Amino acid sequence: MTRRRRRAAGLTLLALLAVGWGVGQMLRDADPPNLFVEAPARAEVGATFEVRLSADEPARYHVTYAGTTLSAVEYAWTATPVAAPGLQELHVVAEDGAGNRSEVRRTVEGIVPADVTPRVVGGARPGAPFHVALDVTPVDAPLADLTVVVDGEARVVHRDAGGLVAFGAVPLRRDAGRLDGVVTWRDALERDRVRAFAIPFGPLDTPHQDLNVDAGTLSVITPEARALEARRLAAATADPRDPPRWRAPFRLPIEGRGTSGFATSRTYAPGGPVSFHVGEDVAVPTGTPVAATNDGVVRLAEDLPIKGGTVILDHGAGVTSRHYHLSAIAVQAGDAIAAGEILGEVGNTGLSTGPHLHWEMRVDGRPSDPMAWVDRTRP
Ligand SMILES: [Zn+2]
Repeated sequence: MTRRRRRAAGLTLLALLAVGWGVGQMLRDADPPNLFVEAPARAEVGATFEVRLSADEPARYHVTYAGTTLSAVEYAWTATPVAAPGLQELHVVAEDGAGNRSEVRRTVEGIVPADVTPRVVGGARPGAPFHVALDVTPVDAPLADLTVVVDGEARVVHRDAGGLVAFGAVPLRRDAGRLDGVVTWRDALERDRVRAFAIPFGPLDTPHQDLNVDAGTLSVITPEARALEARRLAAATADPRDPPRWRAPFRLPIEGRGTSGFATSRTYAPGGPVSFHVGEDVAVPTGTPVAATNDGVVRLAEDLPIKGGTVILDHGAGVTSRHYHLSAIAVQAGDAIAAGEILGEVGNTGLSTGPHLHWEMRVDGRPSDPMAWVDRTRP
């Protein structure tokens, strides 16, 4: 372009601008932009959120939120401020070329959504009880539809003095390996969240016992006796949805005595079937008082043909303590029992070769190592 022509073009542009300005003044646009704002009511603190803006004409947008203003000239624009904690005003202004302004005020609540960290304690061997503690941050953040699944089974989540917790026990008849678990919940932003965890465990390394129980003692095992016991025990199950009834640590049912024998494999007669011993045997004289390992409700208190004098305590959360071969029973089904209260006396009733207490701790009916509960509020 020659210098002359450039100059002419410049003059033409000036003329056009002048005309345009004059027309603008004459047809002066008095209508403010028709502003449309789409913004979330809640957003995650520290993350950006989208404020979608549009108008029926190009506009200069100003989005002011939590002390910061973002601006742009567009027909439609998406601003992305960073969410701040708590209720914050979102102020949107749209200004057209003629200086007309529209504004919209909204409130956006900045939320720190719940995060859940599962922490497994115990469960190191087959038959070992465990608990999954759920550490929630922030502590009071709302959680919806919280579930814990371990090894394909839903576990009921309880709240005790230590927070949210689920209990379980590694199946006794399982090779070394791991149980896979998953926690799911919905956070305050309506998002479905997932955290996986694992419970690795080693092999069972308990001894084998050949008991050579005499035929007279074994004669208590009859199909009728088995059926009767199965019926009575089925009626005495604990509801895993009941909250834990205990506050203090579990204790030995017989003061000052060590116990042994959980998870030993046994034959009761030469060549007989191998079974696992699912409790601890405490050999003490007949008449020794048996105390409640912890607070609970009596679910069953009666004489059974094989287990002998039996007391089953329901501690809540699906946890039961079971006491067999008693010579005397001091409680009744339905009784609320405090830790340390006397349930009965040691005996030699049912399938037993000498005075002893057979003591079990079960989680949802699954045997667990009783000693792993002693002196603890969570196994
Ligand atoms: Zn036993």
